[in-house]
Amino acid sequence: MGIVVQKYGGTSVGNPERIKRVAKRIIECRKAGNMVVAVVSALGDTTDKLIELAKQITDSPPEREMDMLLSTGEQVSIALLAMAIKSMGWDVISLTGAQVGILTNNVHTKAKIIEVSCERLKKELNEGKIVIVAGFQGVTCDNEITTLGRGGSDTTAVAVAAALKADVCEIYTDVDGVYTTDPRMIPEARKLDVITYDEMLEMASLGAGVLQPRAVEFAKLNNVVLHVRSSFNYNEGTIVKGEKEVSDSGIHREKEMVVTGVAYDLNTARIGLFDVPDKPGIAKKIFTALAEKNINVDMIIQGATRNGRTDISFTVAEDDADKALEVMKEIVEEIGISGVSCDKDVAKVSIVGAGMITNPGVAAAMFQALADENINVQMISTSEIKVSCIINKKDTEKAVKSIHKKFNLEGN
Ligand code: ADP
Ligand code: ASP
Ligand code: MG
Repeated sequence: MGIVVQKYGGTSVGNPERIKRVAKRIIECRKAGNMVVAVVSALGDTTDKLIELAKQITDSPPEREMDMLLSTGEQVSIALLAMAIKSMGWDVISLTGAQVGILTNNVHTKAKIIEVSCERLKKELNEGKIVIVAGFQGVTCDNEITTLGRGGSDTTAVAVAAALKADVCEIYTDVDGVYTTDPRMIPEARKLDVITYDEMLEMASLGAGVLQPRAVEFAKLNNVVLHVRSSFNYNEGTIVKGEKEVSDSGIHREKEMVVTGVAYDLNTARIGLFDVPDKPGIAKKIFTALAEKNINVDMIIQGATRNGRTDISFTVAEDDADKALEVMKEIVEEIGISGVSCDKDVAKVSIVGAGMITNPGVAAAMFQALADENINVQMISTSEIKVSCIINKKDTEKAVKSIHKKFNLEGN
């Protein structure tokens, strides 16, 4: 018997009808002779609604209590899905993250998985049961409930697949696979047959919400091959793995492509620091203060020096912007900065592709596509396989469309 781990996202289990359909799909896999573990997300937009509810109580809910609240979403869906499977005559059990033994660190609301214990999972599977696991949640060694950050059920699925050495990890979602860009924004986007971990990691980190970046990291680390596909049909999806091979379908076209995809991230904010003393130790103070509050900093730009002073700007997730601003205000006087600003009206657009390393002029082509639409570039950052630009939020769709076209990514 093989072990199959499947993950069903929120839309896939959005209502009772869909839960029953997912139950049938899981049973089909069990009937085919596999041991099945299904990881599920909260129903539809439950998590968004719970966050909204908390905001109606207080502007700054304690993160521990946020985890208590958010983890309830997935507990509802595992119970309902298990009931559906049981009613169809199959032996099944639902388990929370804590019951499985998904051990995390204690960074509430964005905890990282340290270890997944296989004992309970294996015991239930060996008894012939289908196992339904709550995604997105874990437990610390002090028995505190944690959540893994938005989209965290993907990471639960990959971590469970790695721990069980599963044969397949299937990520069922509401689109047919990974596309050259968000198919909901750009209908001309093309589905990719195969994408490497490195490219997928960049795409996901740069905003392609189809997979949580941490899930891809985990998959790469443990060599878990992912199959991202739709729960609404039986089409082949996208395989995420280490290397593309010549035998992979579509590879010839993909090999010729310098750019694999275009990603955008609306959850971005730009913090500006004015008149910063240009001397050793200042950058350390600023970014240590942010790190101590678990705020991830993305792009950093330091301007030219005038009279021993300079400007620094950096980007953080928009969700973290208020917290980052507070941290900066606390150190303004100590460091001697004359002002701090925060602009939430920005977005990041990026191109990703392993072929970029060896092709000059890729960044220039991206800037051309933006210039063609009269879009101003506020910040730029590059790596071997990506170029990112910060632009005005309202220009995002125009920018993605123009760049996607410029690199001939459309159509199947
Ligand atoms: P789930 O609830 O199944 O986890 P998500 O909403 O988290 O689903 O992720 C799927 C969504 O990701 C799609 O509906 C699509 O709008 C978005 N998306 C963004 N970029 C891409 C991309 N490059 N390929 C496919 N989907 C993408
Ligand atoms: N329910 C969580 C979220 O909406 C986790 C997930 O769906 O992966 O972010
Ligand atoms: Mg998701």
